[in-house]
Amino acid sequence: MKTFKLLILLAIFTSCSKNIYKISKKEYNKEARKLGKSLIKITPDTIDNRISDVIKSQNFNLRKPNLIVIHHTAQDSCQQTYKTFALERTQVSSHYVICDDGTITQMLNDLVRGWHAGGGSWGTNTDINSVSIGIELDNDGKEPFSYAQINSLVALLKKLTTKYKIPTNNVVGHSDIAPGRKTDPSALFPWKALSQSGFGIWYDEDKLKDVKLPLDFNYNFALKYIGYNTSNIKNAIYSFKLRFNSDEVSHELTEKDKKILFLLMDEI
Ligand SMILES: [Zn+2]
Repeated sequence: MKTFKLLILLAIFTSCSKNIYKISKKEYNKEARKLGKSLIKITPDTIDNRISDVIKSQNFNLRKPNLIVIHHTAQDSCQQTYKTFALERTQVSSHYVICDDGTITQMLNDLVRGWHAGGGSWGTNTDINSVSIGIELDNDGKEPFSYAQINSLVALLKKLTTKYKIPTNNVVGHSDIAPGRKTDPSALFPWKALSQSGFGIWYDEDKLKDVKLPLDFNYNFALKYIGYNTSNIKNAIYSFKLRFNSDEVSHELTEKDKKILFLLMDEI
C-alpha cells in the first residue's frame, strides 16, 4: 500500500514538472512572437521639441552578444536549476546550463536578453544582461567542478566565441561583474586552466618573481583597467582575488596581488 501511495505521489510530481516546462515553453514562444512584432514598429518621437521622422532601412539584423558570464547555480541539481529558470515567479534565467556530467542544456536563444547578471558592470558596460550570454554550471559552491563539466564549457565557449566573434578575453565570472554582491563561480573554479584552453585572461606566472612594481603603481587604476567596478575598492579586491589568487581570498591586496595585477595589464 505504501509503495502504491509513493507511486501516485511520484506520478503527480512528474506531471507537475512536465507542466512547468509546458507552460514555460508556451510563454517563451509568446514572448518571442511579441518581440518580433515589436520590432516592426518604430514610433515617431519628439526629441527636444524636434519631431523625429521614420523612414525604415532594410539593412539590419539582430545585435550580437559580446561577453560571456560564468556562474555556479548554488543549487543541488540540474533538474532544480531547470525548474528555477522555467518558473515565472523566480524572474531569473540563463542561456545555458551545464550539468556535472557535461550535459549542456540551452534555455534561451543566444540573441535574447537573459536575466542572469542582475546589477553590475564590466569596464564601461553597465547593463551586462544586454551584452552577454549567461552560462550556469551546476555546482553548489562547495564542490570542485568536474572535468566533464569544464570540458563541455570549453567546447561551448569555443562555439559561441567563434559564432559571434566574441573576444576570447571577454569571458568573466559573475563575481567579476558584481563585486560585493556575487561570489560565483566559487574559488574552486579553474580560471587558470580555462585560460590555457584559450578563454579568459590570466597572467604570465613565470614573470611573477621578477616583477619590479613602479613606485607610482596605481592598483585602483589597474583593477579598473581590467574591468572591475572600483567604487567599493574592498569589494573589487575581493572579486579580483577570488579569480586570480583564490588561495588567499580577502579584501586586502598583498605585494603578490599587486604584481599579479601589474602582469595582468599586459594581457588586456
Ligand atoms: Zn551568478
